[in-house]
Amino acid sequence: MSILGNFINGQAVTSQSGRTAPVYNPATGEQSLQVALSSAQETQEAVRVADEAFATWSKISPLKRSRILFKFKALVEEHTDELARLISREHGKVFSDAKGEVTRGLEVVEFACGIPHLQKGEHSMNVGTGVDSYSMMQSLGVCAGISPFNFPAMVPMWMFPIALACGNTFVMKPSEKDPSTPMRLAELLKEAGLPDGVFNVVNGDKESVDVLLTDERVQAVSFVGSTPIAEYIYATASKHGKRVQALGGAKNHMVIMPDADLDQAVSALMGAAYGSAGERCMAISVAVPVGEETAQKLREKLEAELANLRVGPGLVDGPDNDMGPLVTRDHLEKVKGYIQTGVDEGAELVVDGRKTAVDGAGDGFFIGGTLFDYVKPGMRIHSEEIFGPVLAIARAASFDEAVSMVNAHEYGNGTAIFTRDGDAARQYCEQIQVGMVGVNVPIPVPMAFHSFGGWKRSLFGPLHMHGPDGVRFYTRMKTITQRWPSGIREETNHFTMPTL
Ligand code: NAD
Repeated sequence: MSILGNFINGQAVTSQSGRTAPVYNPATGEQSLQVALSSAQETQEAVRVADEAFATWSKISPLKRSRILFKFKALVEEHTDELARLISREHGKVFSDAKGEVTRGLEVVEFACGIPHLQKGEHSMNVGTGVDSYSMMQSLGVCAGISPFNFPAMVPMWMFPIALACGNTFVMKPSEKDPSTPMRLAELLKEAGLPDGVFNVVNGDKESVDVLLTDERVQAVSFVGSTPIAEYIYATASKHGKRVQALGGAKNHMVIMPDADLDQAVSALMGAAYGSAGERCMAISVAVPVGEETAQKLREKLEAELANLRVGPGLVDGPDNDMGPLVTRDHLEKVKGYIQTGVDEGAELVVDGRKTAVDGAGDGFFIGGTLFDYVKPGMRIHSEEIFGPVLAIARAASFDEAVSMVNAHEYGNGTAIFTRDGDAARQYCEQIQVGMVGVNVPIPVPMAFHSFGGWKRSLFGPLHMHGPDGVRFYTRMKTITQRWPSGIREETNHFTMPTL
């Protein structure tokens, strides 16, 4: 079986570490590939190459860097179907959803193409007599990205297009569960004209990650994954003097007010809870209907919709399924375990996805859509992230109770409110302790020109991903205050703070 190695200094490199991990096709359960788990030395070599490439790349005009990104954008567009198939084969998500993922990543590339404008800095004339002040947004050096399995194209593309556009070089450490797509993106970057060594991919696990967190040549670390690892990444890389943005897990609530358009809310909820088999950090995993009547109607409508949820392989000849398999057998077992936990904790299991028959499932990692009712704060199926197609109904008696439930949760990634009442929506947006809020929008993922990030234990670090925060994260501000000798008409000594 072939072993996927690394992409270093513009070429595919075989790993000598002798350690590998299996990569599966989740729709069949078969192993498709082995991926190398690189050694610390191999990771250091990627950092060395990136550090060397920085000297030249950082000096290239932003306009030229942006032209390479324009070419990369065209190549990704040309290869969208191929990339989507690659994603689906290793992650399991359905083809149309995989294409959507590529498109959302591409939008960050489009944003990064505007780097000559984004990196202009600021200028003030005459901050003192004959004195001008301006700021430069300079590149940092080697930046590292560590990504999760659930968006093998989009999450790396949240990071490297802006990092590279700002004049940095990059070492990417993809998820070992679906590593092929970032490798393909590296090839496309090379085809677009990116100089060798500017973008490198190291496949691996903790051994590689620890090099990226501690090597003094790495200046910045972007991480997306689960909260315990995000916390570790933030603490370790910060201790080693790096700037860090570490995005963690989530438990996203959708509040449904009594005046909401219930059919619209249910349709939105189905996609938000079960799309990509719930393996999205912005998936809605808790529905919070306000009032008993809303709860009862919501539950009935969801139950009816679940009977029609089409679960099956991500790549099919006919129309796409609604939902594919989970990423690995281990993850499938973990999700099944949570369903049992919910039953043991006393929640009412309305629809049990463990019993869903999937046509042609074979040994694939399939599970059907699952619905719980009467879930309460304190239950593990409410407090913990399941990351599967399991939706909990947690009934609230009032708007205030719903807000308190969301605000008391340790995660604060995304949330939504469905209502026709502008005042309720406005209050919700103001009071809620969550980073991304949708009003009658179930998955409020900010577009590439805004920034993406949660609050509380969903994000460690001050800056969000992509958009204006992305440019801030990947640049360092330097402010120059200057006056020229010919303009110095009086010479005075300044022993006090200079003022106008
Ligand atoms: P994960 O934390 O297991 O892995 C993420 C990355 O960290 C991988 O590259 C992995 O190799 C590496 N890693 C794992 N264990 C490590 C360790 N002990 N030391 C160093 N590195 C380690 O996450 P996952 O299962 O791949 O992804 C799912 C998680 O990602 C979910 O919790 C989901 O909510 C989260 N996620 C969050 C966002 C967000 O924007 N907040 C977006 C996507 C995914």
